[in-house]
Amino acid sequence: MEILRAEKMGFCFGVKKAVETCYEISKKETEGNKYILGMVVHNKDVVKEVEKIGFITIDEDDILAGKDPLKKGDIIIIRAHGTTAQIVDRLKEKQVKIYDATCIFVDKIKEILIEREELGDEIIFIGDKEHPEVKGIISFGKRVNVFKNLEELKESKLSSSKRYSVLTQTTLNKSKFLEIKEYLEKHYSNAQIFDRICGATSERQEATKKLAKICDIIVVIGDLKSSNSKKLLEVALAENPKSYLVQNEKELDLSIFSKDMKIGIAAGASTPEDIIKKIENKIRGNFNV
Ligand code: SF4
Repeated sequence: MEILRAEKMGFCFGVKKAVETCYEISKKETEGNKYILGMVVHNKDVVKEVEKIGFITIDEDDILAGKDPLKKGDIIIIRAHGTTAQIVDRLKEKQVKIYDATCIFVDKIKEILIEREELGDEIIFIGDKEHPEVKGIISFGKRVNVFKNLEELKESKLSSSKRYSVLTQTTLNKSKFLEIKEYLEKHYSNAQIFDRICGATSERQEATKKLAKICDIIVVIGDLKSSNSKKLLEVALAENPKSYLVQNEKELDLSIFSKDMKIGIAAGASTPEDIIKKIENKIRGNFNV
């Protein structure tokens, strides 16, 4: 038996930093209740760990509806996806202590959006307007047109006399981005395009695909509700029908393996290293490798 890990797997830069921020703050802040705005990461084991060190997950809708328990002096961490301008205003009104763990890649897009609007541009934003990251970024703008994909963009009536800045969700698929870029460059010379896609998701998908081609079986480690883990499973299944999504070592069914197998292990950007290690150790322990 051989166990191979995907070349890129597990926590991305932004998620790692947000989780570390929770641990730092739990040691540093001894007074006031501690909250996290939404799930710190789409992994229920990590959320449980963070709750164990004293954090309570709080819903953005509850804050907007005035149904939150926040009091002056409480501590709140903004997760890697960031949040909306309205929520930031509410938190300031409530005089809570804000620790902003928004990923720098998300923050950079927000900064460009604000700068370009100040220069007079209208914004074209490509992404899923229901995604928390997109909701957060566009809430800081005043003239933002959101399009889900190239098809939607083609149906719109852009002006040839306005100046546009084009921004995207960090996880937009690179080849889709290039199609959009090509279309805009061909039809709208008045659009300036900013490429701020974060490679973390696509790198994990590429690495999983590569691994699935050379292994007998693939174990994708991640939360069953995490969209990036489910996407990794899809990528693996397309190459190898013996691909499984497993949340943690307790749920790992050892009967799917046999002694002569080459096992590939992949994990999404929301999966912590200790869960990966526990799964790896369980397989090694059972088969003595
Ligand atoms: S996927 Fe990229 S942009 Fe999103 S949190 Fe991770 S590093 Fe930041």
